[in-house]
Amino acid sequence: MEELLERLLEECRPFAAQGRVADYIPELAKADPGALGIYVIGSEGRHSWAGDCRQPFTIQSIIKPILLLQALLDNGVEEVQRRVGVEATGKPFDAINASEQSLDGSHLNPMVNMGAIVMCSLIRGGSYEERFQRLLELTRQLTGEETLEVNEAVYRSEKSHGSKNRALAYLLKSYGLLEGDVEDVLNCYFRACSIQVDCRALAHVGAVLSNRGRMPVSNRRVFPSSLARYVNAILMTCGMYNGSGEFAIRVGVPAKSGVAGGIMAVVPTRMGVGIYAPSLDRKGNSLAGSRMLERLSGELYLSIF
Ligand code: GLN
Repeated sequence: MEELLERLLEECRPFAAQGRVADYIPELAKADPGALGIYVIGSEGRHSWAGDCRQPFTIQSIIKPILLLQALLDNGVEEVQRRVGVEATGKPFDAINASEQSLDGSHLNPMVNMGAIVMCSLIRGGSYEERFQRLLELTRQLTGEETLEVNEAVYRSEKSHGSKNRALAYLLKSYGLLEGDVEDVLNCYFRACSIQVDCRALAHVGAVLSNRGRMPVSNRRVFPSSLARYVNAILMTCGMYNGSGEFAIRVGVPAKSGVAGGIMAVVPTRMGVGIYAPSLDRKGNSLAGSRMLERLSGELYLSIF
């Protein structure tokens, strides 16, 4: 497996030069576009890796499936689905998804920003500090990294350059879809996106989802298998935003990307994969990362289709 990963890494390295690192906030524009790492955790608990797989980066949108899990654990499927729908939007992650029709919960999706902002408001807790701590705790469990923290510089950058997300949140509020103080909800969302991870941490989340809610090796259950099915299905249809259809054809497994260049992939019953390659395609997905997954899927027959 290590040999295969090394080979894929070298084959896909040239793609890193074709994309661009995210620059919507100054902190992310500092990333090294040539960084490339991959980490795989198999269902039997075996770890394999290649490249810059312990380099830290922020989780960004890959927090969305964890936010969804927290919301589901706290409120149940029915309530979450009433507030945030499950249909793919076919639009960019930060699209203002409103037209002349009034907006309602069924127009939202947990894997794009508007839906994720609503999910922050669904986490149980007396204050937003408490809600965020509960989300961080779940993220630590799922990544198997007890010391995960927020990258404060990225958080401050998100907060001070967050006009688009602020617009989305106030739009939700104006339609009565967001309860509570908008700035509190946004701070929770910005902090959630700024949690610092690496490829191993993402592979671990993928492994738990592939194992239908049980930790690799110990087999300890973190969440019910019905919720793994819910999250994996949404990852399949919307995890790569408006690139999800193409990704389903080329790779064929549930996955989630983030603008810092991470991808977390779930190969049901077989493995979790974490990738880091910060240069992105036009839809905001890691370019070399998607190519590495495509090759890995081809070599190991991972597509679920
Ligand atoms: N922090 C980013 C945003 O909300 C996360 C989006 C992403 O990773 N695609 O704009």
